[in-house]
Amino acid sequence: MRWGLVGASNIAAEHMIGAMRATGGNVRSVLSSSADRARDYAAQNGIETGYSDLAQMLADPELDAVYISTTNEKHFPQAMAAIAAGKHVLCEKPLAMSVADAVTMVRVARGAGLVFATNHHLRNAGSHLAIRDLIASGRIGTVLSVRVFHAVHLPPHLQGWRIDNPAAGGGVIPDITVHDADTVRFHLGEDPVSVVAMSASSGMGQGVEDSVMSVWAMPSGAQVMAHESFTHQFAGTGIEIHGTEGSIFAQGVMTQQPVGQIELVTEAGREAVSYSNHNLYERAVGLFTDAVSGNASPSADGRDGVASLAVAQAVARAAQTGQRTDVDYGGL
Ligand code: NDP
Repeated sequence: MRWGLVGASNIAAEHMIGAMRATGGNVRSVLSSSADRARDYAAQNGIETGYSDLAQMLADPELDAVYISTTNEKHFPQAMAAIAAGKHVLCEKPLAMSVADAVTMVRVARGAGLVFATNHHLRNAGSHLAIRDLIASGRIGTVLSVRVFHAVHLPPHLQGWRIDNPAAGGGVIPDITVHDADTVRFHLGEDPVSVVAMSASSGMGQGVEDSVMSVWAMPSGAQVMAHESFTHQFAGTGIEIHGTEGSIFAQGVMTQQPVGQIELVTEAGREAVSYSNHNLYERAVGLFTDAVSGNASPSADGRDGVASLAVAQAVARAAQTGQRTDVDYGGL
């Protein structure tokens, strides 16, 4: 796979370039809005070419796919340009600033016969794959409720547009609630119907929320409680899934690393659950690469990216209005 990076980002440098190379890919080029930054980033990361013009980058006939990791408001126009140029697209979450734009991206890629995927890393974790298998195999019976704990402390080098720029898609809801929506959908195999929520600025957000708590109603009747924040130093992360026959307690698993502990509790007692500790991003890139070859499906496809955005936007609306809000999936 010959990759182009749209966006000279931290996530690409910290995780995705390594994942592309580990899965046999070649990172050919990188795009930045600044020519100097494109050149420096390319040099620092061993990439052949740095561009500051997207059309020039996409004109490269050797380029198979792009990975889009710019700030959120740029995902839609850049993905549409890449699709028009016939490139497969792995796009960061949230896919776009609106569900309508996200639906358009996914539909146009589908019409062009291109692979379009969303970079939701958590469903690639061995921990979450093991949790999903426990639920699917009936070990906890019928799911009654889920609690998601995803209140973290945003590291200083990420305290830029996320905490003060709503036009770039800042705020904890587009940043973290989308991941929790994807993870819950992955585990339960159903889409939230409606939500209630309250958001807050608890010390970091300037003009955007840095904390949110929400409750989601699932079609099965299960209830989901989610907490996301940028401001919690010591809270740790986790997910609990409670069913009629058992409960799953997973600590430290809402993270980019293959870490955390899982415990299954049933009438038989408490049982530690083991899982694979593979790299989350390598699995996502590997499945994307296989999907382009026609041998697999991406771990999270375009529909998954639309759905996670739709839930996050319903949470944002519910927090703004104080009203219970239906999730609008945009008809996809
Ligand atoms: P960054 O802030 O690192 O990068 C976003 C843009 O900011 C870049 O495209 C770049 O613009 C600009 N930028 C970055 N660093 C600098 C710098 N030192 N000086 C000037 N400009 C800079 O964002 P993240 O990597 O944190 O996030 C990018 C996207 O990835 C977001 O959509 C986010 O939601 C998503 N993400 C996903 C994760 C996941 O696990 N799935 C984890 C982290 C982020 P330019 O390209 O024009 O140079």
